[in-house]
Amino acid sequence: AIPLVIAKSTALSAKHGLLIKNRTDFENSRKITTLVFDKTGTLTVGRFEVSRLKSLESEFSENEIVRLAAAVEGSSEHPIATGIMEKAKSLKVSVPAAQNVSAITGKGIKGNVEGTEVSVVSPAFIKEQFPSLHIDDNIQTGETVVYLVVGKTVAGYIALADQIRPESPAAIASLKKMGIKTILLTGDNKIVAESVSDSLGMDGFIAEVLPHQKLEKIKELQSRGEFVAMTGDGINDAPALAQANVGIAIGSGSDVAAATAGIVLVNSNPQDVVSLIQFGKATYRKMI
Ligand code: ADP
Ligand code: MG
Repeated sequence: AIPLVIAKSTALSAKHGLLIKNRTDFENSRKITTLVFDKTGTLTVGRFEVSRLKSLESEFSENEIVRLAAAVEGSSEHPIATGIMEKAKSLKVSVPAAQNVSAITGKGIKGNVEGTEVSVVSPAFIKEQFPSLHIDDNIQTGETVVYLVVGKTVAGYIALADQIRPESPAAIASLKKMGIKTILLTGDNKIVAESVSDSLGMDGFIAEVLPHQKLEKIKELQSRGEFVAMTGDGINDAPALAQANVGIAIGSGSDVAAATAGIVLVNSNPQDVVSLIQFGKATYRKMI
């Protein structure tokens, strides 16, 4: 039988947007010393809108950049893909189908469009492949930037903006008051990671991390004696969510993340992480 305090707490949790799938994760929530946040969709709204477009080669107009980028993003569920598809729609660009589309893990996506290889990739990937191009000059504070590569040419870039969720500042401040360290972990660029981390007063950020590095980071924190919770939304967050002492998935995220995590934030609200820890403490204090 489920002890009454837990049954009560579970019902209360549901009211506060928490789905407790694994009781051990719930029990462990009161011991958290470090909370690692994935950026997109938890601390930010998770809706990317194209804010700027730039052609770097005269044969590619801005519409052509959107058309080719949208062709490869058509089958992706990444929030960046959604933002680019919306831009194509608003420009009324007719988007061709791409063939052999595949992810470049943690760095972008590629496919064949009208006989040419087209990819939409991170600044970090461009730095590796085109070391002479100046990338950082093209990124403004708070922007996520992706480059369009057509054949061997860097055709241009698309800047997208997401918004910090209105609930995030209070959530981070509450965690700080509880003595919990907060760290931002993201595959996105350093400039946007730093601006989110600084504006929320977090203890630090780790940017441009590849999916397998997310897992390594959790292990590293644990080996330093931290009791780690992680929030995440993507398929690529699943290994890190499984490794964390408390795995927290975002309701608006992928099913894989939700299946791996012990707790789901139904409303994707970071304030509900604070409720989780408070409920965990209240519940297990009563039992002892
Ligand atoms: P996170 O979930 O932390 O944002 P991801 O691994 O999903 O990290 O993405 C890391 C980076 O890889 C993105 O910021 C972007 O530059 C690039 N990327 C990933 N998927 C796509 C995509 N579908 N289209 C364009 N760029 C992508
Ligand atoms: Mg993600």
